[in-house]
Amino acid sequence: MAGILFIISAPSGSGKSTLVNALRSQVGGIDFSISWTTRQPRGSEESGREYHFTTREQFERMVADDQFLEYAEVFGNYYGTARQSLNEATEAGRDLLLDIDVQGARQVRARVPQAVTIFIMPPNPKVLRTRLRNRSRAEGHVDEDVLFRRLSEASKEIENYSQYGYILVNDVLERAVAQLEAIVVVERTKREGRPVDVHNRRDFEIAESCREINSRERLKPVLDSFGIFPAEPPQRNLF
Ligand code: ADP
Ligand code: 5GP
Repeated sequence: MAGILFIISAPSGSGKSTLVNALRSQVGGIDFSISWTTRQPRGSEESGREYHFTTREQFERMVADDQFLEYAEVFGNYYGTARQSLNEATEAGRDLLLDIDVQGARQVRARVPQAVTIFIMPPNPKVLRTRLRNRSRAEGHVDEDVLFRRLSEASKEIENYSQYGYILVNDVLERAVAQLEAIVVVERTKREGRPVDVHNRRDFEIAESCREINSRERLKPVLDSFGIFPAEPPQRNLF
């Protein structure tokens, strides 16, 4: 049986890596695609673990050789997912998780429409600023320009939230981790054609609560704080 392709996007500093690491430690059977990037390693990052760090020249050669499933320029650096990651997961029938930006997510969705897409939001700009600053401090290097850039990009990325199947607000970490786990359980249950029963009913409720249509009240203050108008509900076709 083919694995599920999960795509997670979030503005930088929202807590995506923290959530993904928690998910991976608690739920087995998901491969994590290690992206290629031209940005410099941060803190204790190692090539081949968080990213494959490379040069612009090599990245552009890989683009020319059509080695990427998707790629995009984010904050002045290239980031890309190697086709090989998806091919290997598909051949092994394993689920694969891509942590990619909104541009990359759009490209993958066009190629793999059945991908499960998840958007993670920070609760508000103040919390996002604090998280970005704390992370930079922990890594021993606070660059105000980088912080400013990442903060100003956040609203633009959040504007795309309604293009995702599930939307999480990473406020209380434990709750966001539980939501992410429930989404994985539910998507696997659906793929295997298993029914909703006493064992998974709670997961279905949690996952459904993360659908855009069921999260409008919860998302409103978050969107307001970033100065974003909520997405219009889909129009009914009257003709
Ligand atoms: P991202 O991968 O989205 O750029 P990180 O996972 O690196 O973000 O998280 C940014 C910072 O915020 C880290 O210092 C992390 O420990 C912290 N963080 C993440 N989630 C939460 C949360 N729910 N509550 C408080 N701090 C958090
Ligand atoms: P960071 O530099 O903070 O690790 O990542 C910056 C942004 O690049 C994040 O939004 C992250 O999701 C995105 N990103 C990481 N890998 C990829 C990738 O392979 N493709 C695309 N399109 N974006 C990526």
